[in-house]
Amino acid sequence: MRFYELDSVPYGTARYTGEYHAEHKWGLPGLLCPTCGGNAAGIAEAYPSVDLSEFPEAKQLEKSWLEEDYGRFERLRQMVRPLVPASARLRPGTHFGPLVGSARGNIAQILIQYPWLVLIRREALEQLHAEGLRGLKGCRTELRFRQKNSPELLELEIELHGLYHPGCLPPVDLAPCETCGSYKFGRPKEPLLDGASLPEHLDLFRLRNGSATLVITERFADTLRRLGFEEFSLREVPVR
Ligand SMILES: [Zn+2]
Repeated sequence: MRFYELDSVPYGTARYTGEYHAEHKWGLPGLLCPTCGGNAAGIAEAYPSVDLSEFPEAKQLEKSWLEEDYGRFERLRQMVRPLVPASARLRPGTHFGPLVGSARGNIAQILIQYPWLVLIRREALEQLHAEGLRGLKGCRTELRFRQKNSPELLELEIELHGLYHPGCLPPVDLAPCETCGSYKFGRPKEPLLDGASLPEHLDLFRLRNGSATLVITERFADTLRRLGFEEFSLREVPVR
């Protein structure tokens, strides 16, 4: 099985005008980390299916702030824990709930405005489900369109699985900070996947040690091409 990084189209080559300005409804605060001293905000991790509206803290979690009290951060994190998949790391800045905002323009079957977030038309997701692709969970958004004939856009909830292989990473401590989950490296220039870490039950996932990187299986890539989906780019990532 081959694997590909799913990304937006290269800058300046878009054929569709679709765009959005939106934020997820709720989020954990950032954290001034007492362990590594970092100013952590894991913006790539999002669970759009999670509804926090019944929580007393919901109003507070609509704002973003930098928390300096680790105990307070941890209490908020534990409150959300039962609602998210077991694989979730819940780093500072993790987002929840629907994307709220506005959208406009022509939109292809999928819209990848940021490399870590995939919006998809409802009918396109149904096509992918009918093809038997696994792990594609569409969540409602609250995007307002001004134009007529606007599509229904869903956000894919993408779980954390799989790792970059140590062979493509710099010679630093490869373990995440035990408190905030930050890594001491960014996206490698020549990425390699760690074969033993890859999930066998999903066709789309985000890397645990590179949560802004979305990886899809060859099966998913072939389906996108065969169905004629547009406005994305694929780059094969070798597996070791
Ligand atoms: Zn830390």
